[in-house]
Amino acid sequence: MLKINSDENLGKVTIEKSALQNALSHVAEYGNFRLPRRKWKEVYGLLIGKLKNNNLIVNNAFPMTHGSSIFVEFEKEHYILAAEINEIIAENGDFFVGWYHSHPGLGFFLSGTDVLTQLGFQDVNPHAIAIVFDHKELERENETFTIFRLHNTSEGILSNYYVVDYELNGLENESELEFIEKIYYKITHSLETKKIRKVESTARNNIEKWLKLED
Ligand SMILES: [Zn+2]
Repeated sequence: MLKINSDENLGKVTIEKSALQNALSHVAEYGNFRLPRRKWKEVYGLLIGKLKNNNLIVNNAFPMTHGSSIFVEFEKEHYILAAEINEIIAENGDFFVGWYHSHPGLGFFLSGTDVLTQLGFQDVNPHAIAIVFDHKELERENETFTIFRLHNTSEGILSNYYVVDYELNGLENESELEFIEKIYYKITHSLETKKIRKVESTARNNIEKWLKLED
């Protein structure tokens, strides 16, 4: 079902290092290898960016919430928070260009619920993307995430999806895998399992600093 299909009409996708770092830290915190697998949790966040000459640039990622090992839900408070962030980022010409969530140990795909969520983004912005993380793939030295878009939103929840190609921007002398492993192991080795930091609030502080820098 999955096919690499870089839709030329939609240009390229570029992910800034800071966006990947924030999202992956969130994923790693709740999918910590030191925790038993049954304790891993799905996380959900928003992607912030802009369109430049028909190309999508993901500048940052904003951790929103986490759920159970197989499910994460967006609640009323998150919509309110998202609306507030939206106002701030709009001042810099940024907007929500998609979302990310994790499938810890479950692999890369969009569930029916995920397709529904992606419809919400892609209906208003054909460039919008969904990033799915599965950090378990790191053990096999595989990619830890895959980017998806729906083929045809007019088909609604029956719409098929495809894999979107991307470039990662901001890495210096390290490979993408080295960069990802570094973030991942820093988090999983600095934590005591009984004291999981609130990565959502930490990452939010980082974003707040970043937003101020852009002023
Ligand atoms: Zn999912």
